[in-house]
Amino acid sequence: MHEHDTERDAARPPRRRDPVYAAVTRIAAFALAPVAAAVTPGRARHTACRWALAARFPAESLDGLQPAARAAFEAARTRALWEHGVLLGLTSGYRDRATQTALYLAEVRRCGSVAEARRWALPPEESRHVAGTAMDVRPTEGARWLERHGALHSLYRVYDNEWWHFEYRPDGPPARLPHPGAAARGTRRPEWFRQATSMTEIDLTCSAA
Ligand SMILES: [Zn+2]
Repeated sequence: MHEHDTERDAARPPRRRDPVYAAVTRIAAFALAPVAAAVTPGRARHTACRWALAARFPAESLDGLQPAARAAFEAARTRALWEHGVLLGLTSGYRDRATQTALYLAEVRRCGSVAEARRWALPPEESRHVAGTAMDVRPTEGARWLERHGALHSLYRVYDNEWWHFEYRPDGPPARLPHPGAAARGTRRPEWFRQATSMTEIDLTCSAA
């Protein structure tokens, strides 16, 4: 779920340097295309886009995403760059259970209640980041592009309060929800979670597990 404590409200206006980064990345992709064509015949745009975005977003990792979700995201960002000149970076994709648990518990602590915490983060059993099919993207312009064009790649925004969170849903568009805690009926929740009503109980359960 969220990674950006300062970005929870509506999408920020683009920073002044964002267009510069986008222009430099476009130029890099264009310049790298001939080499990319030699290395990966028929996939020049895809490869050049990957190289250019790796330079722009050196910390990002697509590892752990399900192969189909990763392919969809890479196809989408290639299209965004070459057709519209828009950069699409990954802030957070796959998370292991421990990482998601830590994020979730930190949120419970910060909010002081499970119900409030679930507006921003889900426990690992319910998180599609742990399943490898959720992607938190950046910058805001990239997220806007993905919201408009992502359906072609089965990538959809899911939550009203998380402009950055997208999910790979090959079965079609999911219902748009106000926040993660409004999750769909039938979502699996562990028994200890259903029974716990306070963060103290959850902390105790997790430390005992
Ligand atoms: Zn997310």
